[in-house]
Amino acid sequence: MMRLTTVGTGTAAPSRGRVQSGHLVECGTVRLLMDCGSGITTRLADLGIAWQTITHIALTHFHADHIVDVPTLLYAWRYGQLPPRSEPLQIIGPAGTLRILSGFAGVFGQGLLTLGFPISVHEIVPGGALALGTNTHLRCLKVPHTDESVAYSVEHAGLRIVYTGDTGPDQALGEWANGCDVLLAECSLPESMAIATHLTPAQCGALGAAANPGVLALTHFYPPVEAVDIRGEVGALFGGTVVLATDGWTLDLEER
Ligand SMILES: [Zn+2]
Ligand SMILES: [Zn+2]
Repeated sequence: MMRLTTVGTGTAAPSRGRVQSGHLVECGTVRLLMDCGSGITTRLADLGIAWQTITHIALTHFHADHIVDVPTLLYAWRYGQLPPRSEPLQIIGPAGTLRILSGFAGVFGQGLLTLGFPISVHEIVPGGALALGTNTHLRCLKVPHTDESVAYSVEHAGLRIVYTGDTGPDQALGEWANGCDVLLAECSLPESMAIATHLTPAQCGALGAAANPGVLALTHFYPPVEAVDIRGEVGALFGGTVVLATDGWTLDLEER
């Protein structure tokens, strides 16, 4: 079984009911949080999710709305529970992740990365596969957003969840995600505000048509995109199942 929970479906723009980006994948012994923007730590508690036992954090890129709650969560593990965390944590991200974490440590004190539980940092390389646990692998693909931005594919027991992170339109992304069980895609802006580094609903529809996922789940909504007919614009290009994710939406995938 594989469970996806969209913990935070918002963006850099404050948005009622949506905190910034963060998504939890649970499978086997792995509890992987992908991105950790502002509000994610609080939202995990809101949703009754056991934040204490997350095993991995994977960052897609270094925009603040995807990373600023990493220190909050690290301190929660050290100071927000008794006894403090002792289990190891792995933080994964593209090249530059160690520099970003060292930057946080520079702000909050070097103790941020020496909190009494082992923290390992792995800078993932596109094309490679990282084993997260028994029968669970993480892969990444470079995507057009910032220089370091990647999309992630989490694979477990024949199931596959792909998360675009933030991205612009990209043909390779559709091919790479092809046939996945869930494609969690950003849907940032309406057509009238389209830019090369984010997706519009129509571009999400085109991505869905290329990838043909079991479920196309949309996230990362800037407020203006919520004023348009997202479902209609996506559905004009992609005939499969579309979900407009909310904070706390959960999907369970069963092994085939
Ligand atoms: Zn973002
Ligand atoms: Zn971004």
